Amino acid sequence: MKVDLLSDTHIHTSLCRHASGTMEEYVLSAIDRGLARLVFLEHLEEGINAAYRTWLTEEDFDNYFEEGWRLKQHYANRIMIGLGVEVGYNPECVERILERLAWRRWDWVGLSCHFFRIDGHNEHLNVLSNNRRTIGLIERYGSRKFLNRYFATLTEGVRTIPAHILCHLDAGLRHQPNLHLEDSHWEQIDTLLDEVKSVGMALEINTSGYKYRGLPFPRPEIIALARDKEIPLTLGSDAHNPAEVGRYFDRIPALLS
Ligand SMILES: [Zn+2]
Ligand SMILES: [Zn+2]
Repeated sequence: MKVDLLSDTHIHTSLCRHASGTMEEYVLSAIDRGLARLVFLEHLEEGINAAYRTWLTEEDFDNYFEEGWRLKQHYANRIMIGLGVEVGYNPECVERILERLAWRRWDWVGLSCHFFRIDGHNEHLNVLSNNRRTIGLIERYGSRKFLNRYFATLTEGVRTIPAHILCHLDAGLRHQPNLHLEDSHWEQIDTLLDEVKSVGMALEINTSGYKYRGLPFPRPEIIALARDKEIPLTLGSDAHNPAEVGRYFDRIPALLS
């Protein structure tokens, strides 16, 4: 199965408040790198209780579409631009998420899950963050058990949210020390991929993983499993600054051969 090496389908901008650079700076970087297509995938979250907001408000999304449409037209003969969303699955707010997705015409929808609540805590924890307190709380809860919860929630998300791609499948708890995939996790991943296949979604190869662990998200064994199941693959850099557009894409041909 072929992967389009000239399409970066996972780009953030300063609108999410934890990335730098304007939309136009990302477009110029993509053109510079010879990409044929760039898809913005800005964070949408619903019902998350966190000290610092790392996603867009509806007003931000208004500005995002306005500027996005301007860029689409302005750079039409140089690059294809997609206006998409990385929607965080929150089982407590399904109706509202579906409603918000239906409000706009997204070119591309990516699904992921960053936020979880531990029983007895009101606040959500970002399971992709390297915050030491978060890591400690997850450790106390039981990180293996937490990883089970992460995969189960993603599977539920795939069944519930209509999306084009599943983002960075095994990036959850990526900063947790001494955490390995065990048999029960692999069984869950197998079920998750079957679900991805049955709803017609694609699996993202997220190259930001090369920065964190020298391997993409998900790891090559999971990508191989997805290929066995004939699940389509897409490439995303998860750029949070313009220089990261298309990062590590040159490693993908060797990874897939
Ligand atoms: Zn982000
Ligand atoms: Zn993400």
